[in-house]
Amino acid sequence: MDFTKGMHRFTVVPSLTGELARLQTIAYNLWWTWEPEAVELFKRLDIDLWQQTRHNPVEMLGILQQTTLDKLTTDEGFMSQLKQVDEKFREYLSARTWFERTCNGGRPMSVAYFSMEFGIHESLPTYSGGLGILAGDHLKSASDLGIPLVGVGLLYRQGYFRQYLNIEGWQQELYPENDFYNLPLTLERDASGAPLAVELNMPSRKVTAHIWRVQVGRVPLYLLDTNLEENAPEDREITAQLYGGDLEMRIRQEILLGIGGIRALHLLGITPNVCHMNEGHAAFLALERTRLLMEEHGIRFAEAMEAVRAGNVFTTHTPVDAGIDHFPPDLLEKYLGRYYRFLGLSRDEFLALGRINPKNSHEAFCMAVLALKLADHANGVSQLHGEVSRLMWKNLWPELPDEHIPITSVTNGVHTKTWLSNEMAGLLTRYLGNRWREDATDPLLWKRVAHIPESELWRTHERCRERLVLFARRRLKDHLKQVGATAKEIAQADEVLDPEALTIGFARRFATYKRGTLLFRDLARLEKILGSTDRPVQIIFAGKAHPHDTEGKELIREIFQHSLDSRFRGRIVFIEDYDMAVARHLVQGVDVWLNTPRRPLEASGTSGMKVAFNGGLNMSILDGWWPEGYQGNNGWAIGKGEVYDDLDYQNEVEGRAIYDLLEKEVVPLFYDRGPDGIPRGWLAFMKASLQTLCPLFSTERMVQEYTRTMYRPSFAHWEMLSADGLALAVDLAGWKGDIRRTWHQVRIAGIEAKTPTEVPLGAVIPVTVNIILGDIPPDQLSADLYCGVLDSRGNIVGGELVPLAWEEATGDGAHRFYGEIESRFCGRHGFMVRVMPRHPKLGPVYEQGSIAWG
Ligand SMILES: *Cc1c(COP(=O)(O)O)cnc(C)c1O
Repeated sequence: MDFTKGMHRFTVVPSLTGELARLQTIAYNLWWTWEPEAVELFKRLDIDLWQQTRHNPVEMLGILQQTTLDKLTTDEGFMSQLKQVDEKFREYLSARTWFERTCNGGRPMSVAYFSMEFGIHESLPTYSGGLGILAGDHLKSASDLGIPLVGVGLLYRQGYFRQYLNIEGWQQELYPENDFYNLPLTLERDASGAPLAVELNMPSRKVTAHIWRVQVGRVPLYLLDTNLEENAPEDREITAQLYGGDLEMRIRQEILLGIGGIRALHLLGITPNVCHMNEGHAAFLALERTRLLMEEHGIRFAEAMEAVRAGNVFTTHTPVDAGIDHFPPDLLEKYLGRYYRFLGLSRDEFLALGRINPKNSHEAFCMAVLALKLADHANGVSQLHGEVSRLMWKNLWPELPDEHIPITSVTNGVHTKTWLSNEMAGLLTRYLGNRWREDATDPLLWKRVAHIPESELWRTHERCRERLVLFARRRLKDHLKQVGATAKEIAQADEVLDPEALTIGFARRFATYKRGTLLFRDLARLEKILGSTDRPVQIIFAGKAHPHDTEGKELIREIFQHSLDSRFRGRIVFIEDYDMAVARHLVQGVDVWLNTPRRPLEASGTSGMKVAFNGGLNMSILDGWWPEGYQGNNGWAIGKGEVYDDLDYQNEVEGRAIYDLLEKEVVPLFYDRGPDGIPRGWLAFMKASLQTLCPLFSTERMVQEYTRTMYRPSFAHWEMLSADGLALAVDLAGWKGDIRRTWHQVRIAGIEAKTPTEVPLGAVIPVTVNIILGDIPPDQLSADLYCGVLDSRGNIVGGELVPLAWEEATGDGAHRFYGEIESRFCGRHGFMVRVMPRHPKLGPVYEQGSIAWG
């Protein structure tokens, strides 16, 4: 018998009145997670409960007895701390922000940031790894900077799994249920008090979703939940797990995120003009935005799409095809068949939106392609990843040279205050003043790190390392108890690791390309390095493997086995259940952060940035963000960024490079101490690392960059196309249709250039070009010279565009154009003529198939 059906439900909430009610308000705004004084306040409520609830003040307030809470009001110390935190909180919410200072005057921009996962705090397990943490840090910095932004995601009943290792070190997964009423969530309701209900069509049935709000400082994050009684059992599962289930579950989740997300905002009365798709998962949102505009203005798909595209921004995060969602056509037919017909699209037209080659019926529907086609701005997450992405997607723009592929890069960052230790934060405030909290992007400010006394910087870091060692021992003991170890074995956990030894951290998802076991290729050599009695080295590992990734689990087991090996006893520890709390301890306490991806597979990586803010040093393959960060004196590069065809050979070379670096540079530098026990050389590296990396690798810089280079231009473009009932968007769609019909007439008939074989530097070369335009008026076309230095294969690299001016019509639809090339560099040069459509108001417009080269 199912007892749940007829059951009456009610929620008991603690009765917090008067000043104590503020405690509850603060607990419901995740601002507290990056404000150390607020964290202290909640810890003070009950330190054991704090640990048991995984640092969840909402749950704590629910568990604490009313009498305990009542007693607080007479605790003067507590009440005055509460008052202080509360004032800080109000001040934060009302302060004048960066956005107000720098971007006022513009008409209201409204950004919606869509992501499958958000990592804001360990108590809200709606994230699996890097992508989610980045999204969480993005929201936090958007709040700090005052960007008008909301987040949209899914609220998972179980979230991502929790990891524990069995006695052999094999990963086991646990899926504890989240109790939404004990999380900082607020159900969004209508005026009558009924929950707002988002409705979606799944094949042959309706699905309803509720909207929960998480407040992240000033920024609301809306999370959708389908676990409702009125839904079919399989639809209740849509929000059961993050990255659980099969391809069909994935498409349902992505429909909920994209289409459901836009509907949710609509219900809430929010009409974003810029939508940021964090990875391709969210790309369906473009379809729903288009549908809404079609309905509102009575226009066609192609017309509404022009405006929507202008207002979309897409960030790609993976340099490998396998990491991107591809859906087979029949699955799309099943889930979106009715939907695309309603949009007035044929099956082929719809499938073409997700295909690189629209005519290739064997191509699966790719979410990243959909996002690239329907976004105005697209970017990778480091300079290197931008480059890799341009090559990866260049077939979408077959007529453009590589460097013109419209995918830029905005390098990732981290939310400083979330990842910085209290000790380090205090130290920075003492020597840099308070400004690093408000504007951490000023390099001059970080120069002042030079003034921090070496002994103080060192002591501060040593305290954090010691805390990490104690934390690792505590977690190891928990593990030993779990697997039924003897009391003696558990007691021995207090002997592992040395609070004063050089400590290396390695924590990340156990995907094979990250090569978590590279360090173990030569065990004898590793034993020598770790086992030294006067210069000991220790390594702390953490990380999860995807539940279906047996290879990844094998790597974890291997490391775990090494940690039991008598040769490495007490020098290698694996901490279970990597989450944000484990990450904080690690990045704050390690001396060296090791990162060994196979270049160029790490799009950016962010954990090394967290380490940098805390004074740790990075030792990494030149992949992801590190080529932008590494400067020779602020950490170490493993290799020089070579890419090998032979994987095993590459592992051998790079594994050896790690041992060499450790033996010859890292260990000596760390243990070369003055009479006062302070490693001067090491501190010089620490200071250089803080000075060079902190101004660059924060989400503060990153969100400012997104605002300047993506959100604002996208918003301006959207405004232009959507003004006057989308007049320009409608015009543009019609004009593109004309161009597609008439473009076949365009032909470059002749090029005349007076180029002797050798040209003196600085000489001007006149170029005359004859172009047949047919019926296309010359002002609807942009003709340019593309010229530059040739590489060894005869291709122009990093060429520049020189516009050609129209001179006269020469009859029969032919026109003469003229331009001049200035030879500014020595070497072999070449040039080509490029002709592209040019919209009278919007300038040159790229349309696949409508570009001519000669
Ligand atoms: C920062 C962080 C990540 C991302 O780390 P990478 O450098 O991208 O490997 C993953 N998981 C957690 C818990 C983190 O804190």
